[in-house]
Amino acid sequence: MQVIRLEALSDNYIFLLHDPQQNIAAVVDPAEAEPVLQQLAQLKAELVAIFNTHHHDDHVGANQQLMQKFPQLVVYGGVEDRGRIPGQQVFLEQGDRVQFSDRTAEVFFVPGHTRAHIAYYFPPVTALETGELFCGDTLFAGGCGRLFEGTPAQMVDSLSKLRALPDNTRVWCAHEYTLSNLRFALTVDSDNSDLQKRYDQVKVMRDHQEATIPSLLEIEKLTNPFLRWDKPSLQLAANSNEPIQTFARIRGMKDKFQ
Ligand SMILES: [Zn+2]
Repeated sequence: MQVIRLEALSDNYIFLLHDPQQNIAAVVDPAEAEPVLQQLAQLKAELVAIFNTHHHDDHVGANQQLMQKFPQLVVYGGVEDRGRIPGQQVFLEQGDRVQFSDRTAEVFFVPGHTRAHIAYYFPPVTALETGELFCGDTLFAGGCGRLFEGTPAQMVDSLSKLRALPDNTRVWCAHEYTLSNLRFALTVDSDNSDLQKRYDQVKVMRDHQEATIPSLLEIEKLTNPFLRWDKPSLQLAANSNEPIQTFARIRGMKDKFQ
């Protein structure tokens, strides 16, 4: 399974999963149809599935157009998103499994950004490969999604599930927010040398208009303040030694950060 990253809207990414043997494809969170259709035409591949993480327009915007073009495709989403995802046919819960080509993804229920958000995790097939995590607007490179419909406690629980995945997991999040996320991270975790190093690398990448997605979960665990609610440096910045309160206060600071 190859993962192809497509750019959409101002800072969204759409991910196309491609099986070159069967020449089929699936798409994660199609914000727009055009880049997906162009890539499918180039590959001469048939689209068989849409994997939605949540109902926001910049994740499901092209569902209907793609369904018209490929009437056989199946639209997946979270069970709590019933009625909010155009064309949804499969309603997924924590622990469900979904198939694409010869790979099976595990479904994680990760409310917080929305009350219905799910993530898809494809474990590696061999020890040499990476796992692939499609986490929408839950975990970002260097950050996490805003809490529109969920509580800090829910988001900590959700991010705990993702943090428990193996280090060697590629994080395919839906937006290019990394540089500004890391700029904020440095204000709450300034003595973190891994974070400083990552910021410098990402700065150079963005200066050259390079994408910073996917990132690696190992790096997120070391540098992402929203996976580090139990670390002394973050608890100091939040003036709390309680994990959920630490998370909530750091999230609150980020909401106000320019
Ligand atoms: Zn969203």
